[in-house]
Amino acid sequence: MVRIGVDWGGTKIEVVALDEDDHQLLRRRVDTPRGDYAACLDVIAGLVAQVETELGATATVGVGLPGSLDPRTGVAKGASSTWLIGRRVEEDLRAALGREVRTANDADCFAVSEATDGAGVGHRVVFAVILGTGAGAGIAVDGRAHHGPNHSAGEWGHSPLPVPDVTEVPGPPCYCGRHGCMEQWVSGRSFARSYALHADLDLSAPVPVTPREVMDRVRSGDRLARLVWDRYVDRLARGLSMVVNVLDPDVLVMGGGMANVPELYTDLPPALAGQTFSPCFYTSVVKAAHGDSSGVRGAAWLWRDEPGPTTSTPHI
Ligand SMILES: [Zn+2]
Repeated sequence: MVRIGVDWGGTKIEVVALDEDDHQLLRRRVDTPRGDYAACLDVIAGLVAQVETELGATATVGVGLPGSLDPRTGVAKGASSTWLIGRRVEEDLRAALGREVRTANDADCFAVSEATDGAGVGHRVVFAVILGTGAGAGIAVDGRAHHGPNHSAGEWGHSPLPVPDVTEVPGPPCYCGRHGCMEQWVSGRSFARSYALHADLDLSAPVPVTPREVMDRVRSGDRLARLVWDRYVDRLARGLSMVVNVLDPDVLVMGGGMANVPELYTDLPPALAGQTFSPCFYTSVVKAAHGDSSGVRGAAWLWRDEPGPTTSTPHI
């Protein structure tokens, strides 16, 4: 049975097809029709049809969503792609694709992928953090995503920054309606914005500076860039110390663009050790093994160990 995984991202929709041995058969990536829910469904249905035609096979489909579904009503909530909020996403995907479809939060898919054969292998409880355009996390226990009764496990990105100083209150506004969410401090975008703000760069420019450029400045001895990086690490440590205090995961797997910064793995563990309640800190902090591909692989595996759905007539 071929398994298709779809990563329904805010900027890209990516599809991967895996064979029974989890080898990648093919992969497609297109721009997300931002803000247009119906067009997103059409794009996903089109990609799945194209992949099945090319492979000459019917596949199971798992979709990673930039949000989660209310477990009782099936209505999407907390989506960074806000045009999904309030939609019955799984129902609509089922109608568009003419079959049962499984969905999960994209960060959960990432956590499962890394726990299965990535940087989290051999660890029971994996806390997988994404520090990219946004910031989020997923939890895998024994290789399976942990959702909780509200489907809100791992919603670390919209928890407030712990132990804020006076300059961090109330914090920047977040699209979720709160202020000072972790995402507003530790995403790659927030890191770059923080430097741009202090360096007096033109904040109206679409990208005043990239995280990579800021890190280049850190390495070349730029004092301001160093201060911004140190502050970024401190905020990340404060946020993750709460995770360690409550869950004490066996490993912290880092994903998203900021996970490519080598200094993260030398600077974050001692900063975290200084913030946790426990005076000892032995947790591994490691880079995701599958990078950007993790989410889409985890989505394909939503049908793992299942015989697969029977095809029905599309409702549209
Ligand atoms: Zn928020």
